Amino acid sequence: MRYLDNAATTPVRREVLEAMTPYLTSHFGNPSSHHTIGEQAARALADARARIAAVLGMRSTDIVFTSGATEANNLAIKGVAIAAQQRRGARHIVTTPIEHESVLASIDYLVRIHGFDASLVPVDATGRVDPTAVADALRDDTAIVSIGYANNEIGTVQDVAGLVRAVGGRAPLHLDAVQAAGWLPLAATGADAVSIAGHKIGAPKGIGVLGIRARIPLEPVLHGGGQERERRSGTENVAGAVGLARALELAESERASGAARVAAMRDELITGVLERIPVARLTGHPMHRLPGTASFTFAGVNGETVLLELERRGLVTSSGSACAAGSDEASHVLLALGVPPDQARTAVRVTFGHDAEGSVAPIVDAIEAAVAAVRSGV
Ligand code: PLP
Repeated sequence: MRYLDNAATTPVRREVLEAMTPYLTSHFGNPSSHHTIGEQAARALADARARIAAVLGMRSTDIVFTSGATEANNLAIKGVAIAAQQRRGARHIVTTPIEHESVLASIDYLVRIHGFDASLVPVDATGRVDPTAVADALRDDTAIVSIGYANNEIGTVQDVAGLVRAVGGRAPLHLDAVQAAGWLPLAATGADAVSIAGHKIGAPKGIGVLGIRARIPLEPVLHGGGQERERRSGTENVAGAVGLARALELAESERASGAARVAAMRDELITGVLERIPVARLTGHPMHRLPGTASFTFAGVNGETVLLELERRGLVTSSGSACAAGSDEASHVLLALGVPPDQARTAVRVTFGHDAEGSVAPIVDAIEAAVAAVRSGV
């Protein structure tokens, strides 16, 4: 099987597993314990925090360990919004309609339960949001602007520098950088908060980070023992934190060369599919896209059926979001791009990892054969 669904998750890298193993076995302490075993774990956690902060261009005190990016996004959005509501009566949030469910559902919660208004600034047909439109949506009572650095379904990369300039410090800017991590620069984006998930970059599932400037008031979502400087209670996943630090450092050191190499494979795939399959349409931006992501619609075929045909031919791919996989609902991302619902249900996404290798030609052949098989009802 050739695994081409790296936007959903990635295998744990050997170096990451090796870095983690002592903290799952001999160095198993609770970092809050006041004895040598606990202090050993606390030192490892502090070291991981500093290394992650360095990659993100932040300070150690800005790093909050979470269980993943769903939690990081919930904490960023609910935590900043509720703190701003209490302190300065803020009650407005700015985002786009193509965000991950963990962003949109957090905002929906604030609208339903805490009386917030949300402005969903439209994106163009390629999935890009105009920074000027984001600036126009800002109000005096805007609590937070939350925008995905790069989209998980279509791979479109936003103009982050333009967004930072447009928002201009009038409200904290949060970036969901889950899909950008390992492909795009994370330091010096100018954003106030970033979410990262370990399992997308060769660390395990169940560890993530919210990097958030310590000066930004943050109301916790999880209450308890007051870990993470009172911002996220719960015994820290020390091994996960150590693994995430190692994975982020590796990804950062390999980023430039890996991105160029994988982007060449992606472009060969996109060109081949568009040339050979007349009904194929590329979704997302033709240039501003993640190096590993190729996403298409194939008019007249059911995307889920194509995925099954591809798996029979040895390729594991996806229709888009792993959360929505298997459901018959059209993707909210594609609908927001203006793709008609019938066509949106034909989506197929191929996502390479950093370690992608092998020829692209057999992937194009398999997609052509799978689409033909579904179209002919064979
Ligand atoms: N944000 C984006 C853009 C994602 O792609 C994902 C995972 O698919 C998440 C957030 C959620 O991350 P996690 O799986 O760590 O909860």
